[in-house]
Amino acid sequence: MFIDTHSHIYAEEFDQDREEVVQRALEANVRNIILPDIDSTTRQAMLSLAEAYPENLFPTLGVHPTSVNDSYETEMQLFEKSLGQHTIYGIGECGIDLYWDKTYYKEQVIVFERQLNIAREMDLPVIIHSRESLAEIFTVLQRQHYNMKGILHCFPGTEEDARRAIDLGFLLGIGGVVTFKRSLMAEVVREIGTDHLVLETDAPYLAPVPHRGKRNESSYIPCIAAKIAEILGSDTKKVEEITTNNAMNLFNLHTSSVDRP
Ligand SMILES: [Zn+2]
Repeated sequence: MFIDTHSHIYAEEFDQDREEVVQRALEANVRNIILPDIDSTTRQAMLSLAEAYPENLFPTLGVHPTSVNDSYETEMQLFEKSLGQHTIYGIGECGIDLYWDKTYYKEQVIVFERQLNIAREMDLPVIIHSRESLAEIFTVLQRQHYNMKGILHCFPGTEEDARRAIDLGFLLGIGGVVTFKRSLMAEVVREIGTDHLVLETDAPYLAPVPHRGKRNESSYIPCIAAKIAEILGSDTKKVEEITTNNAMNLFNLHTSSVDRP
């Protein structure tokens, strides 16, 4: 069994065929899928979808850095209010994004740190989004890294950054980018091995080769596992076992999968 640790199947890109997309994932043996939250505009769609597939889809709650603007306090209140009302498996995705817009950098840091504190209080993993901001992310994590666990999603760093993230207790989320030509992510995987990796699609974005450029979906996870196996001269089954185990432990999914026939 594979786990997709990052999939936005609730996004409007899947409005026409969402059920088929979930079915294709299950048929590809991608049986557990983490649904990272974005903000209040898509939250209800995410929670309703997760409710329809309680054995397979596992939601988190959070506020994405690109959703941070002048009204971030309202957004945070909505997020914090929803915390006590749903079964969730993590906090995020949260983080810092300086690629799209630097206007709200200060506010992004405030919102990120508040979510890290909540994750620690609730003993939940955090899913961290980083774009053009890894140094800033590390600064925040090192300020308050004690008792943290989570994923640096779509890992954007070097081997040295990877070791630093692992030292801070984090796993690296590896997705379609690893299958691209001259990918830095492939270099990192070659040096680090599988012990600290989890698989992710980031659907609908960043589809792996041979689907590159198309809409991404969770059923493509085995392509990513196969590429990692190829890079390491290992076999896909081994990558599947280790990454699934890493994700099961991080999101505490053992109890939810025990009852499954
Ligand atoms: Zn995402």
